[in-house]
Amino acid sequence: MLRSLSLRRSLHSLRPHHRHLIVLSSSSTVPRAGLDPIRPFCTEAAAPAASTTSSSSSEVRKYMGYTALVLFCGAATYYSFPFPENAKHKKAQLFRYAPLPEDLHTVSNWSGTHEVQTRVFHQPESLAQLEEVVREANAKRARIRPVGSGLSPNGIGLSRAGMVNLALMDRVLEVDKERKTVRVEAGIRVQQLVDGIKEHGLTLQNFASIREQQIGGIVQVGAHGTGARLPPIDEQVTSMKLVTPAKGTIEVSKEKDPELFYLARCGLGALGVVAEVTLQCVDRQELVEHTSVSTMQEIKKNHKKLLSENKHVKYLYIPYTDTVVVVTCNPVSKWKGPPKFKPKYTVDEALQHVRQLYQQKYRPEVKSSNNDEPDINELSFTELRDKLLALDPLNKDHVIKVNQAEAEFWKKSEGYREGWSDEILGFDCGGQQWVSETCFPAGTLSKPSMKDLEYIEELKRLIEKEDIPAPAPIEQRWTACSKSPMSPASSPAKDDIFSWVGIIMYLPTSDARQRKEITEEFFHYRRLTQEQLWDRYSAYEHWAKIEVPKDNEELVALQARLRKRFPVDAYNKARRELDPNKILCNNKLEKLFPPSESS
Ligand SMILES: Cc1cc2nc3c(=O)[nH]c(=O)nc-3n(C[C@H](O)[C@H](O)[C@H](O)COP(=O)(O)OP(=O)(O)OC[C@H]3O[C@@H](n4cnc5c(N)ncnc54)[C@H](O)[C@@H]3O)c2cc1C
Repeated sequence: MLRSLSLRRSLHSLRPHHRHLIVLSSSSTVPRAGLDPIRPFCTEAAAPAASTTSSSSSEVRKYMGYTALVLFCGAATYYSFPFPENAKHKKAQLFRYAPLPEDLHTVSNWSGTHEVQTRVFHQPESLAQLEEVVREANAKRARIRPVGSGLSPNGIGLSRAGMVNLALMDRVLEVDKERKTVRVEAGIRVQQLVDGIKEHGLTLQNFASIREQQIGGIVQVGAHGTGARLPPIDEQVTSMKLVTPAKGTIEVSKEKDPELFYLARCGLGALGVVAEVTLQCVDRQELVEHTSVSTMQEIKKNHKKLLSENKHVKYLYIPYTDTVVVVTCNPVSKWKGPPKFKPKYTVDEALQHVRQLYQQKYRPEVKSSNNDEPDINELSFTELRDKLLALDPLNKDHVIKVNQAEAEFWKKSEGYREGWSDEILGFDCGGQQWVSETCFPAGTLSKPSMKDLEYIEELKRLIEKEDIPAPAPIEQRWTACSKSPMSPASSPAKDDIFSWVGIIMYLPTSDARQRKEITEEFFHYRRLTQEQLWDRYSAYEHWAKIEVPKDNEELVALQARLRKRFPVDAYNKARRELDPNKILCNNKLEKLFPPSESS
């Protein structure tokens, strides 16, 4: 039952699509250079000399040791400094990490920004096995935090003390064509689920940018797609089977226990291991995606119409430019069919500007010394952007040039695309990254507050005033509200709509020093948005993206802030009842939701 990360089905199949989609490396592999804290550097020379060794041979060995040390230090200094821009990648290659013990596994999130090493990683294959895992762990008070595909940018599913993962519980259990519902094991990935139900003419109502999440994971954080009439994904859940430490396996639904059901839908993995989920589906539908380029002035005029007349709509803002990319998706008209459209530019023409910039910036001497460099004509736009940013990620002027090239790319990419909703609603988010995404009220569809656009205008001004090397895009999406009280989009008023705004900084490098610098700059950027915007717009971070501050005062302020928006006492009470030994919890959750003094 306890598998040494065989991760047979779900996880392995992720790799071909995303190089770093999930790094669940076993202990025998060398950790990625630059991402792991450096482990003690062990050499045989460091072992204590045996007591039987003669003094002369130990003298000889001592001098040999000194000589080796001098040579080693010389080599290390030579390769490490002065550390020219184009040779940073060399540094980490010199060193080898000591291998981890056999039974220690490194588990890391998609962006390599959060990582734990653990000895406990359960992968049950059936409900009975899962129940056994939970029972045993509870008896031993051993932690088993539920983790899905491990995609959450803040690693909210990770725990060093131990995890349970349902990758091997990934079946479609029942399809009710009449009610348009599907019951699945919670370890099934979104893509697997939609592939499994398409023969019944069904699909999910909406999608996030990627489809590699497990259903348990995507629901538990209240993830979302876009469309002001469409709620976040937890709202599609009609019942769940929870395996709880204190109360065994329970079925929760609106009919059986509405309070617990709504709380547990977006329960952040702390109210039970979700074993099965029943989801309300919709008829499978073909959509037409329309990409166009606009300006803030135009958007302001058309915003209400854009929100209400499109099933799905999102805006991508490009910092330091006036470009707003508008992407809408709507059902193909039954009468007219898909629009007849011939693109003005080919893909090569759209990419030309970005490729040229890369060729100008990328110095020929680097090119000739690096045979591994891929042909730039083979790279997608997001791969090119990553490569360009990697050249000087924190230089504002450089980032502005990349952003301008991106604006040019989108202008030449205007047009239409047609496909099934599960194929077309995704988005290529680029490479490893830091993100912060907030959710705030934006009025109703009939009366939008326009706060969503004000937020963006302020954010763009802030970026420019503070000289933040902010790359593109700032992504803005909308959802209807959710009845799950822990959802950032929760509201008792059913007409309320919410806007979700994501800021980003890419990590296009494996160099530890550069990643650290980008991380610091990103947290500066995020802090400025927090100080200037969050309270004024009642904005709260996405649960998969909220970071826990290291500073105690900031943590206390965050805890108080969360209490204002979410029913923290009710959530903690349910946790105490269902998981009194906190075996499903991790440090992040403990910090976000400490028990109140009265409890
Ligand atoms: C490239 C990229 C694009 C993304 N795009 C979007 C987007 O468009 N919209 C959006 O909202 N989010 C987006 N996300 C975030 C992502 O959807 C969420 O982080 C989601 O939770 C990931 O699912 P997972 O299976 O990896 O869950 P994990 O990250 O492994 O876990 C998430 C939470 O679910 C809990 N959990 C997992 N499985 C279970 C279970 N069986 N029982 C109980 N609890 C469980 C964990 O404890 C944890 O609290 C994106 C992330 C990436 C990396």
